[in-house]
Amino acid sequence: MDLGIAGKTALVCASSKGLGLGCARALAEAGVDLIMNARGADALEAAAATIRDDFGVNVITVACDATTPEGQAELIAAAQGVDILVTNAGGPPPGIWTDWERDDFISAFDLSCLAPIALMKALMPAMIDTGWGRVVNITSMTVKAPAIPPLALSNTARAALTGYVATVSRQVAPQGVTVNNLLPGFHATDRMDFLDTATGDAQGTDMATARTARQQAVPARRYGTIDEFGATCAFMCSQQAGFMVGQNILLDGGQIESTI
Ligand code: NAP
Repeated sequence: MDLGIAGKTALVCASSKGLGLGCARALAEAGVDLIMNARGADALEAAAATIRDDFGVNVITVACDATTPEGQAELIAAAQGVDILVTNAGGPPPGIWTDWERDDFISAFDLSCLAPIALMKALMPAMIDTGWGRVVNITSMTVKAPAIPPLALSNTARAALTGYVATVSRQVAPQGVTVNNLLPGFHATDRMDFLDTATGDAQGTDMATARTARQQAVPARRYGTIDEFGATCAFMCSQQAGFMVGQNILLDGGQIESTI
């Protein structure tokens, strides 16, 4: 399918690896020029070089922390006039309710709520001026249901972003800008390698055993791929998705058992 976005430009945050990389690659395949970001410059440059070779699009890299005011200032300066914004970063740490004090919640909000809001606030006005824009925020399946017990900190901050998007997406839709959230279930990334290794260690088994058990709990009986995730993101940024406003699109292999 021709997504109708060739020649447009996207800022894809946290995109040297994992889900962000999947989104960057799918947008590049659709002919979109990229501004890619991650903290680590080496992996970022390697990912950007591969995308230039594979798809022939222009790629600028900005190595910075997308969740700090300083990093956001660098990104905003480099991304003036972008047509597409994909927000992403790591998630808040796991724990239980007795672990966290006020500062932990402030950090989680900076990471998972206020960082995407700052980028939207800075970059959507130019989209509104041109009458066309797409924003996709990568959040989590736990926004729909608390499927992972230790993630209350993440669930709290991501719920706040979800509420913001629900309102603001309706305010910018008349100007041709769509804002939606993409909710990953378990996907095969470095993050899942880390989580499965930690689970295996905690259970006295190993990563492969922990992974098999986790995958058995997914109706699709596997993890999603970053290519599947990226393709969904690219569709949400397409011309064809212009009527999709304020939605939370779940990509989880059927794990969250709800109809709505
Ligand atoms: P990942 O494989 O660990 O990749 C993270 C990417 O983001 C890397 O490129 C990393 O590069 C970059 N990054 C991390 N923090 C950053 C920051 N502060 N500023 C700029 N770049 C940053 O993670 P992932 O699995 O793709 O997960 C992405 C998001 O989806 C996370 O918020 C995660 O909680 C959420 N999620 C993932 C899953 C899953 O199954 N994978 C499920 C639900 C939710 P550097 O380290 O060099 O910065």
